Amino acid sequence: MAERIPLLAGNWKMNLDHLQATHLVQKLDWSLRDGKHDFAAVEVAVLPPFTDLRSVQTIIQGDKLAIRFGGQDLSQHDAGAYTGEISGAFLAKLGCTYVVVGHSERRALHGEDDAVVAAKVRAALRHGLSPILCVGEALEVRQAGEQVAHVLAQLDAALDGLTAEEVAQVVVAYEPVWAIGTGEVATPADAQEVCGAIRTRLAELTTGDTADGVRILYGGSVKPGNVAAIMAEEDVDGALVGGASIEVDDFSSICRYR
Ligand code: PEP
Repeated sequence: MAERIPLLAGNWKMNLDHLQATHLVQKLDWSLRDGKHDFAAVEVAVLPPFTDLRSVQTIIQGDKLAIRFGGQDLSQHDAGAYTGEISGAFLAKLGCTYVVVGHSERRALHGEDDAVVAAKVRAALRHGLSPILCVGEALEVRQAGEQVAHVLAQLDAALDGLTAEEVAQVVVAYEPVWAIGTGEVATPADAQEVCGAIRTRLAELTTGDTADGVRILYGGSVKPGNVAAIMAEEDVDGALVGGASIEVDDFSSICRYR
C-alpha cells in the first residue's frame, strides 16, 4: 500500500491581513519546531486570503520554512476579462502547492455548482497545483442517510474525465456541511464511513494503486481535543481546519496530534 503522508491544512477563510499572516506563520513555525515537529512525516499547510500570499511566500521561502501554502479558491479561467478573479497561474507563480476547490461556503454563497467545481479542479491541475477538493453533505442529507451517495456524486462530477495521473494530484476533503464552524464534529466512525467510500470510488475511477496514494482529509470543527481520534481512522489522512487554524497554539497542537 502506498505511503500517505498526513496533511494538516489551515483554511484561514477571510481572516488575518498580510501583517497578521506573517506573524502567524512565524509563530507557527517556532511552535512546531519547538515541539520537534517532523515536517517530512506530517505535512503542514496554510491557506491564507489572496492578499496575504505574497507575504506568506516571502517569509516561508526567505526563511526556508517547511510549511506549505496555497489559495482558498481560483478561477476556472487562466487569464482575461474576469474582474476580481485569480488565475491558477498566479498562484503557481507565487509558489503555492495547494488550492481549495469547491468549499461548501463557495458552493453556497457563490453558487458554485458541480460543473464549476470540475472546471476549477482542471484549472488547478493545468497549473501544477494540487486541488483540495471539498465534498460533503448538508444536515438534511445526513438525516436521510444519503451522505455516501451525495458525496460520491460530488466526487464523480468533479473528477469526471481525469486520468489516473491527474487524480493522483488531487487531495479530497470530506467536510460535512453541518460540522463546519458549528462545533458539531462527525464521529470518527462517521468520517471513516464516507472517507472509506471515497477511496473505494477513487479505485473504481482510476486504479487501486492510485486510490491508495490519494490523501483524504476530514474537515469540520477539528480541534486539538478531537483530531487524534479522527486521524486514527484508516482512510483519514489529514484534516482541513478552519476556525482552529488561526489560533497558533491550537493549530500547532493539531499538527502535532501524534
Ligand atoms: C472549513 O472551513 O473548511 C472548516 C473545516 O471549518 P471549521 O474547522 O471551523 O469547522
